[in-house]
Amino acid sequence: MTQSFESVAPATGEVLGRFPRSGAADVDRAVERAKTAYEEWRLVPAPERGAVLFRFAELLRTHKDELTDLMTREMGKVKAEAGGDVQEAIDMSYYMGGEGRRLFGHTTPSELRDKFMMSVRMPVGVVGAITPWNFPIAIPSWKLAPALVCGNTVVLKPAEDTPLLADRFVELLAEAGVPDGVVNVVHGFGEEAGDALVRHPDVPVITFTGSRETGIAVTKAAADHLKHVHLELGGKNAIVVMDDADVDLAVEGIVWSAFGTSGQRCTAASRVIVHDAVYGELQTKLVAAAERLRLGPGWEDETDVGPLINRAALEKVHSYTAIGKDEGAKLLTGGEAAENGGGFYYKPTVFADAEPGMRIAQEEIFGPTTALIPVRSFDEAVAAANSVRYGLSSSIYTRDVNRAFRAMRDLETGITYINAGTTGAEVHLPFGGTKETGNGHREAGQAALDVFTEWKSIYVDYSGRLQRAQIDNAERPAPR
Ligand code: ADP
Repeated sequence: MTQSFESVAPATGEVLGRFPRSGAADVDRAVERAKTAYEEWRLVPAPERGAVLFRFAELLRTHKDELTDLMTREMGKVKAEAGGDVQEAIDMSYYMGGEGRRLFGHTTPSELRDKFMMSVRMPVGVVGAITPWNFPIAIPSWKLAPALVCGNTVVLKPAEDTPLLADRFVELLAEAGVPDGVVNVVHGFGEEAGDALVRHPDVPVITFTGSRETGIAVTKAAADHLKHVHLELGGKNAIVVMDDADVDLAVEGIVWSAFGTSGQRCTAASRVIVHDAVYGELQTKLVAAAERLRLGPGWEDETDVGPLINRAALEKVHSYTAIGKDEGAKLLTGGEAAENGGGFYYKPTVFADAEPGMRIAQEEIFGPTTALIPVRSFDEAVAAANSVRYGLSSSIYTRDVNRAFRAMRDLETGITYINAGTTGAEVHLPFGGTKETGNGHREAGQAALDVFTEWKSIYVDYSGRLQRAQIDNAERPAPR
């Protein structure tokens, strides 16, 4: 009998559904279907593939309320954020749909007469997409929309915490006109279904969003076949608040970036680096704002902060409270679970007087915990911000244009915000990080196309004779 697993509502512990716990044999079957479908899908004109994505975007719009509500139940985030998650998928589908009429390549003159040269983007084949639970509709769209418009087929292994949403996502893709076999879902656990997909010899591209540790395991497992691996991993994102900042604006940005999605975002602000001159004022205002936040189920209008995804997450986040106290940071507020109808709630937590090297200031917590780090200068702030292994997002609050530009240059992250928190990506700019947040690739925008295509350079010689580059024209005069 096939084994199964449950999807559990983080706000109540209620079981929402059962799903097959797939293994290597199921992955084999899915890859086989994707491989067969690829031979036809790659030949469908790109504008037609784009038109399917436009229809998908329309369907997401029609079903936005339903998906938003389901997300508050299965994943736990609050209604406004769940709606934003679906909207991101709508935006991405429209953007990549439009790419069907671009997918630009290059032409350039040949060094020889009567010869034409161009480079074009080619699909790669079957894409293995492994996604996390924290953006259960948006992240699959970041991977599948560009993969599909470029002519690839897909096997999706969604996170085991949000299988219902993944099923709805794929059902709507089918309704939009994605042919059978072009998108296939394999439910199950990372070490089983996920690992089998990463190792499958007929899957040349792996696109993965998840933790740094799993990203390393995925890279190693993919190495035997020299696969293209796109990784979008963790963050330890800092908001810098300078002495000339609008402190009230900064507090709003910190609350949104540190406690939104209960801190379960790879762009969450889990460090706030604050100039001494405003340190006292910021602490008081931030603690007051954090204590005003109402915890509850995501589907209730008055809720500001939903539950964590599961019990293991709750335990991990709480363990960091103990670590922070042991390290000598000062707990200003929060630091404990909150009882509320059987859900996995954790109070928004603020530590003060953290030092840049402490574990709470270095390691990704993935919960509603942030650490304030006092500094005396801009240079000290930048050094502290850059002192982590991750490089996803950063932010600075300042009214000094020179400092803002220095920060844009010197903060070692893939994304930098000026006078805004560390979250809020839009789909037409590249998304991703430096250092150990990834491996140099980017999602979204034009950069995403590089993950899902290979460049092919094509030479057409219409001279009717043998022409040898670098040889027959070697006598040309040297440039002066
Ligand atoms: P998180 O800690 O946020 O759950 P993970 O990196 O463990 O992050 O999970 C992200 C995705 O990666 C999930 O879909 C998960 O099932 C999958 N995954 C976990 N371990 C592996 C693995 N060894 N190989 C492939 N996929 C994995």
